Amino acid sequence: MKMPIGDKFALIERCRGCPNAVVDPLEAETVLAKVIEETGFEERQKERLKTGSPLYHQVFRIAIAGCPNSCSQPQIKDFGVQGQARPGPGEGCTGCGECVAACPDGLIRLSESGPVIDFSRCLNCALCVRACPAEALKVDQRGYKILIGGKLGRRPRLASTMARLGNEAELAAALKKAFMFLLEHGRPHERLGDLVDRCGNVNILPKT
Ligand code: SF4
Ligand code: SF4
Ligand code: SF4
Repeated sequence: MKMPIGDKFALIERCRGCPNAVVDPLEAETVLAKVIEETGFEERQKERLKTGSPLYHQVFRIAIAGCPNSCSQPQIKDFGVQGQARPGPGEGCTGCGECVAACPDGLIRLSESGPVIDFSRCLNCALCVRACPAEALKVDQRGYKILIGGKLGRRPRLASTMARLGNEAELAAALKKAFMFLLEHGRPHERLGDLVDRCGNVNILPKT
């Protein structure tokens, strides 16, 4: 959903979706738009910031990407969502090597018992799953990577990870939490990323 800039205090941008999508960006948008409405975030920001036309940095920017390619740039938005599909082993590997060729990051090698994935670097794009002609790889888990606090501007900041494979309920809860955090603790010209840094991440990010 792209709304005209001017009187909006929260904007959602999503990628157009394509065959690479591992979640439906439109579904995520529906979940997040409902949170904006139910929390009254825009009205509350209007009151808190004492203006009807926010400046660029006062608009809470949300971006949804259907896969880790991240065309809508969720890593530099106040709240970002990235589709995730974690590959796992199926049965009947023929050793054809299609999955090895399909991984853009070179994270798969073949062993005698089938593919071995370097999960420490895997982005959960599932391109390897799509490439397998034998269904010997399958999607084990699907969900949303949830990012907060990204921005460009004077001091750019890449978003912090709030959840790695969240479901829709967790997605809605995360946005609500981010809104409340900003409404309750944010300074008038402060972006969420700066607020997260000022408060030492403790109030909003999961303990690791
Ligand atoms: S982010 Fe992924 S699903 Fe969305 S348009 Fe880009 S490549 Fe396609
Ligand atoms: S999910 Fe993507 S990054 Fe991970 S191993 Fe498969 S192709 Fe590579
Ligand atoms: S593409 Fe499928 S069948 Fe081919 S090597 Fe990879 S897992 Fe095995």
